[in-house]
Amino acid sequence: MRIDILTLHPAMFQGPLTESILGRAQEASKLEVHTHDLKEFGLGNYRQVDDEPYGGGAGMVIRVDVVVPAIEAVTKSGKLKVESGKSPHRIYLSARGETLRQEKVESLSAEHDWLILLCGHYEGIDQRIVEGGWIDEEISIGDYVLTGGELPAMVLIDSVARHIPGVLGKEASAHEESFSEELDRKKEYPHYTRPDEYEGLKVPDVLLSGHHAEIEKWRRSQLS
Ligand code: SAM
Repeated sequence: MRIDILTLHPAMFQGPLTESILGRAQEASKLEVHTHDLKEFGLGNYRQVDDEPYGGGAGMVIRVDVVVPAIEAVTKSGKLKVESGKSPHRIYLSARGETLRQEKVESLSAEHDWLILLCGHYEGIDQRIVEGGWIDEEISIGDYVLTGGELPAMVLIDSVARHIPGVLGKEASAHEESFSEELDRKKEYPHYTRPDEYEGLKVPDVLLSGHHAEIEKWRRSQLS
C-alpha cells in the first residue's frame, strides 16, 4: 500500500513511522509512505498556506488554492499507480468526519492500495476542498479536538497497516483481536503469562488445563 501524507509538520512522522512494525513494513516494501510539506505549495515569498476566515472569528483557515495543487501534484507523483489505472483514495482527517472504527479500518485496507491523507491545522481547511470533490471522505479518530491532523493520520496508518498481508509477523495476527469479526466485533478476552501466581494473584485454572475446547469456551465467555 502507498500512503501520501500532506502536512504542515512532516517531521512529526519521524519515529511513529520509522520504528517497530511500521518501520519494518516499509523496509520490507509492504508499505510505502511519503510525507509532503504543504508549505512547499504555499503562496508568495512567505509560502503562505492559510488566511483569515470569511465571516470573522479566531484562527486561520488553510487555503483551497494551496491544498488543491498539492493534492494534484501528489496524485501525479504516484506515476506508477496512475499508469496502472489506479487513483488515490483521499481522506481529510477531521473532527467533523465519520468516526474511525474497526470495520472502516478493514475496508480501507481491503479496498484501497493508495491513500492520500490531508492533515489540517489551525481552524481547519477551506470547505471548498471537500465540496469540489478533491476529498473522498472525512475521518475523525474520536469526539475530541486535536491541534492537527498528524496524530489522527498516524492512528489511521497504524491501524490500516496491521491488515496489509505480511505486515504483522507470523505469531501476531490482526484476526482474533478486539473488534474483529472473529470475536463478533467485541472486546477481546484477557491474557496471562508466567508466573502462574504473582502476589497471590493466580492465572485462571482453565488456562493451565491444556484443555483447548474449555479454553476456547472460557475465552468466548470473557468477550465484552
Ligand atoms: N475547528 C475544527 C473543529 O472544531 O472541528 C478543529 C480544527 S483542529 C484545531 C485542526 C485540525 O486537527 C483539523 O483540521 C483536523 O485535521 C485535525 N483534527 C482535530 N481533531 C481531530 C479528530 N478528532 N480527528 C481527526 N482530525 C482531527
